[in-house]
Amino acid sequence: MARYTESVCRLCRREGEKLFLKGNRCFTEKCAFDRRSYAPGQHGQRRPRVTNFGIQLREKQKVKRLYGLMEKQFRNLFKKAERMKGVTGHNFMTLLERRLDNVVFRASFALSRKQARQMVCHGHILVNGRRLDIPSYIVNSGDVIEIKGRSHEMVPLKEAMEAGREIPEWITVDSSKCRADIVALPNRESVTHPIQEQLIVEFFSR
Ligand code: SF4
Repeated sequence: MARYTESVCRLCRREGEKLFLKGNRCFTEKCAFDRRSYAPGQHGQRRPRVTNFGIQLREKQKVKRLYGLMEKQFRNLFKKAERMKGVTGHNFMTLLERRLDNVVFRASFALSRKQARQMVCHGHILVNGRRLDIPSYIVNSGDVIEIKGRSHEMVPLKEAMEAGREIPEWITVDSSKCRADIVALPNRESVTHPIQEQLIVEFFSR
């Protein structure tokens, strides 16, 4: 499957804000955005021309990169949100939050969504007692996410749990058992990163 293999710090610089894609490094003075907070490339320091389309595009790109999705997956998830009852933008954000890789990250089992995705793909994650290696799996209320027994000693897992990140109210975590329970479905307010999902809806409605 296609995946992004270039420097992820370029993505933060392109979007003009920190997307926290590199775990602990994002909170140190090594953060590339803190050192060079302008867009990458030869013309990065020029003042960009701002159009409505440009604003919508940047918001779409930002969210796609924040959650580590490729374009096709992102569009497919948006189509799914459109088919659901309710406000499309809110549905879309909650579907992104419910992805298994995001849940592993939000439960503090990984330092970044990218690392969480790798843990899922490498078979370290059990969902309701069964190994599941599909990062795009959408969790449901009542699901139990666990780290496989033999993987409890993984260094990235220990580092992530020691980082002491805030865990959202819709997940309860028992860190001694490396277990996360989905006690409710997330809502729009559960998404803590500042996002204007209406711009994404407008982008896809062109
Ligand atoms: Fe973005 Fe983190 Fe890189 Fe800083 S260190 S530019 S926040 S990915």
